[in-house]
Amino acid sequence: MQALVIATHNAHKTEEIADILGGYFSDVRDLSAYPDIPPADETGDTFEANARIKALAASAALGTDVLVLSDDSGLEVDALEGAPGVHSARYSGEGATDATNRAKLLAALSEKGARGKARSGRFRCTMVLARGGDVLGVFEGAVEGILINEEKGDGGFGYDSLFVPEGHCETFAQLGAEVKNGLSHRARALEKVRGFLEAAAE
Ligand code: IMP
Repeated sequence: MQALVIATHNAHKTEEIADILGGYFSDVRDLSAYPDIPPADETGDTFEANARIKALAASAALGTDVLVLSDDSGLEVDALEGAPGVHSARYSGEGATDATNRAKLLAALSEKGARGKARSGRFRCTMVLARGGDVLGVFEGAVEGILINEEKGDGGFGYDSLFVPEGHCETFAQLGAEVKNGLSHRARALEKVRGFLEAAAE
């Protein structure tokens, strides 16, 4: 068993990833354990480009002893031509918070007059596994769903309280961590990461 460093300062992501991986790693930590490593500039215009930037920056700084995993993720809404997409974390501009981002999304959807199936969208996640500044693999996951027109539920983070995943009647924020972590974009990408690591260990 080895340790895994998640190239993020987002404690929600780290918690979900640690939860989903269970005991697969002896220790799962994130960049809050390494205050000297500055946050990478997410200048890419795709999830993969940003996931590569984050994984390469952290793994180059941490050396070859440590396995690093990055997660770049976001929400694509069809009625908004794929927005907020790679800009999900900073959708509402300077000083954006999850709450201001959700408010902007609700306003944008209402302005479009999007109803019912027109409110379809998906969460996407691209993960990059790296060591010592080298990319070992790129893994993707997505989950389809519908954006509702008011916040429901207290769990999760980001846009969870607005997103009802396909096959369910409640939002990710209402369904709770166990259900979300069984079917989320992050869980689906991590399934592939785990398959890759198991194959490499054979
Ligand atoms: P990143 O840290 O640049 O990858 O930005 C991710 C952003 O996408 C988050 O700040 C959230 O706004 C959104 N996001 C990603 N994954 C989730 C999720 O599982 N639930 C809700 N929002 C998410």
